[in-house]
Amino acid sequence: MTEKGRKRKRGKKYTVLENEIITLDNVSKAYATGAPALNGVSLHINRGEFVFIVGDSGSGKSTMIKLLLRELTPTSGNINVMGYDLVKIKHRKIPKFRRNLGIVFQDFRLLKDRNVYENVAFAQRIIQVSNKEIKRNVPSILATVGLAGKYKAKPKQLSGGEQQRVALARALVNKPTILLADEPTGNLDPKNSWEIMKLLEQINENGTTVLVVTHNREIVNSMQKRVVTMKKGVIVSDEEKGGYIDED
Ligand code: ADP
Ligand code: MG
Repeated sequence: MTEKGRKRKRGKKYTVLENEIITLDNVSKAYATGAPALNGVSLHINRGEFVFIVGDSGSGKSTMIKLLLRELTPTSGNINVMGYDLVKIKHRKIPKFRRNLGIVFQDFRLLKDRNVYENVAFAQRIIQVSNKEIKRNVPSILATVGLAGKYKAKPKQLSGGEQQRVALARALVNKPTILLADEPTGNLDPKNSWEIMKLLEQINENGTTVLVVTHNREIVNSMQKRVVTMKKGVIVSDEEKGGYIDED
């Protein structure tokens, strides 16, 4: 990563470069107990990038995702996402900020008593999209994730791979600028894992900035994307077209 043009002295205001969509500047996060989950992390992601975040369990990956969602605030340091200063942002502005984000988790988090269509439509109802538009948008996004024929199914009638595709459709239906995925293939077999990753790649090719936390070594090594490796709360490597770094 080039540091050219970036002046960040201790105590001075941090800098966000023109094309930067996510900026973490010397971010630390300590919970009430234990060692800090993040310890002086600086990370700069440009609009349109696809980035894998890898690292051992407990290395701070989910904490970073929660900070980017403004679910947590840092103990120190600065975070800027799409021009929003996430340290200074007012509470009433957080929902508007979050509309720019799509989020996918390992455990799908679907509404169990609602069918596929309703699970996806729900995300649109929250932001008050009209029924007419919902009827257009939901089938379209379900087709994108390969679930056009399953719109009436309840989550328990679907395989894990299908459930994750519903979760992905729900994350995408509001056309987010950034998609954050925290171990999206953690509960999936290799075939479904590949299908989800290929969908994430396709979404990125259509312009969405994508951050994927994963343990899937084979996929990371073959996709040749930027790879940020975390260890004990710090970034230990950040490589363009990187691979999974072996532990020893
Ligand atoms: P990862 O996602 O890489 O597995 P996490 O960000 O979940 O790592 O956790 C980083 C560290 O912070 C771990 O040591 C974890 O135990 C700790 N941690 C995470 N969440 C909490 C919490 N709510 N309270 C206290 N400690 C936490
Ligand atoms: Mg985690």
